[in-house]
Amino acid sequence: MRHLYCKDWLESYSTDEFEKQYTYEAGDLGVTISGDVVMIKCWSPYAKSVILNVYPNGNPETEVSETVKMEAQERGIWSAKLSVNDYIGKYYDYLITFEQAGTEVQVTSCDPYACATGVNGEKAMILDLTETNPAGWEQDRNPNETLDWNDMVIYELHVRDFSASEHSGIQNKGKFLGVAETGTKVSDISTGLDHLKDMGITHLHLLPFYDYCSIDETQPYDKDKYNWGYDPKNYNTPEGSYATDAYDGSVRVKELKEMVSALHKNGISVVMDVVYNHTYNEEYCFNGLVPGYFYRIDKKGVCSDGSACGNDTASERSMVRKFIVDSVLYWAREYHIDGFRFDLLGILDVETMNEIRKGLDEIRPNILIYGEGWTLNTVLTKEQVTLATQQHVDEMDRVAMFSDNIRDAVKGSVFEKEETGFISGNAECVEDVKAALLGAPEWASRPEQVVNYTSCHDNYTLFDKIALCNEDISFENRVKQNKLAAAIVLLSQGIPLLHAGEEILRSKVNAEGKFVGDSYKSSDDVNAIRWEDLLKPEYQEVYEYYKGLIAFRKNTKALHIKDAEEIKKAYTFIETEEPLLIGVQVSYKEENIVMYFNGSEDDIRVALPDNGAGYRCYIDASKADATTSACNIVGEQAVVEGKSCLVLKK
Ligand code: CA
Repeated sequence: MRHLYCKDWLESYSTDEFEKQYTYEAGDLGVTISGDVVMIKCWSPYAKSVILNVYPNGNPETEVSETVKMEAQERGIWSAKLSVNDYIGKYYDYLITFEQAGTEVQVTSCDPYACATGVNGEKAMILDLTETNPAGWEQDRNPNETLDWNDMVIYELHVRDFSASEHSGIQNKGKFLGVAETGTKVSDISTGLDHLKDMGITHLHLLPFYDYCSIDETQPYDKDKYNWGYDPKNYNTPEGSYATDAYDGSVRVKELKEMVSALHKNGISVVMDVVYNHTYNEEYCFNGLVPGYFYRIDKKGVCSDGSACGNDTASERSMVRKFIVDSVLYWAREYHIDGFRFDLLGILDVETMNEIRKGLDEIRPNILIYGEGWTLNTVLTKEQVTLATQQHVDEMDRVAMFSDNIRDAVKGSVFEKEETGFISGNAECVEDVKAALLGAPEWASRPEQVVNYTSCHDNYTLFDKIALCNEDISFENRVKQNKLAAAIVLLSQGIPLLHAGEEILRSKVNAEGKFVGDSYKSSDDVNAIRWEDLLKPEYQEVYEYYKGLIAFRKNTKALHIKDAEEIKKAYTFIETEEPLLIGVQVSYKEENIVMYFNGSEDDIRVALPDNGAGYRCYIDASKADATTSACNIVGEQAVVEGKSCLVLKK
């Protein structure tokens, strides 16, 4: 598209004049079906003409079967009116003609508002979405609608990692339908969706499942051709490689809805990972309709690259903002999505996020929003725009942010692979861990603004990171540190997020036996969840530990207090001479808890408040429980084993 960039156009896009003249507010871009009429509309203010190319199917090499001249409307809109009978099930794209320096130039583009596409997302489909709903879709609801954000437990997963292993017991490997399967097992142990249900998570956060670019959907499933999917091609279309048929655009829509419906029926809400901060490349279809508009490009044609992916989305422009808002609301409405995780949120701006919030509240009030509020070096095209970073979290209504503070304090920096954290004996991290327990990293003012985690798809897995920063560490010690890290995340105020497979000591190892820190295009062999590990007692024990921590968290109101002032009142840190011991007493309503976290190798004896009277032990080095029955009554003193936590409650 670069050859279409015109200096005068680039200079005009962020001006008040342009926005006044061309901002289009109605919600009917793309395909609208009413009665027996199909209306197709696109926005291309500098086009000289737009032709709608119609195709009998969505295959990239298919010839045009018919062309329809689109009519110019006000505000840069082009429209074509077709009949339902003749066009449902057909595919289309746009042939746009521009005039630049007296010469006509043409480009063919897919529709950025396409709700379904043919294979590889080249051509948009004219689809009647009401025909794609699974049985009972009208009654389908978010099963966790009434939970406060800090009551939730999020699990971050890639669609394919879930089922790819030959031991997953899941039939639909690598597919949306694989996430929906129940009754799957490795030997007699549950895998897949049943495992998630048993574990007690409330929200499944899936890595990108809009149509992304890097997997060739015409090729059969290949375990070596894999991608996380942070390379958007069509924002409003499900990814074709996750469907059982990537050619028929309706199949991906139907199967994704079936997946959502199955998760909801099993008590699990769905969070969608969205990547509005950049596109795969500048060939993106919106950029064909309005050359250079979608990105932050300076007068010399240099693309801002704060995303480190080649381009940054210009969310401050009215029609980019509208597109992002429309897209998020579309997923919430059409697919019943319960939450959105914004990749590199710090590229987008506060106003866009507040519009999204407002729109989602009108659909369903409790839809979760969180993102990566990192400060990135992006160059805005307008003045007085505030970026959606951690520092500006208070300027946004109910948007949470990942806490890199807890992540790095617990296990060491993700950027320095050998740097240690609290669990590996770094006493300098103690104050940050304490702040994390309160749900209060310096940038946040409320715990519901904070997503607590120690690992996610990025960087080394928790279990691998522990090995990397502890030379010659034993398996047992690695396990202890992993459990301690999980305890800190699940016992902190805020919203806990777990990386899929963390609970069975996920490790990403390549064919050379090396840990892989950036597995975005590694094979299934590296990325797949290894369900067969559940058959080994030492892995099963870790799983039970995670499960116990989740159950304890859910059963303990004092661990998800909404108000930051109430947290301060409830928490008293216990003084200790031990540099790697954190002790805290929590008194909230009828609950009294004592928690100790020991980052040292040594067992440490501690005196208990009120001489331990009435307290029971729920969590220690070996087990985590939600119920008192399995727990010992403690004495006046207790021992906090090295690299472990001890939690008492009365
Ligand atoms: Ca794709």
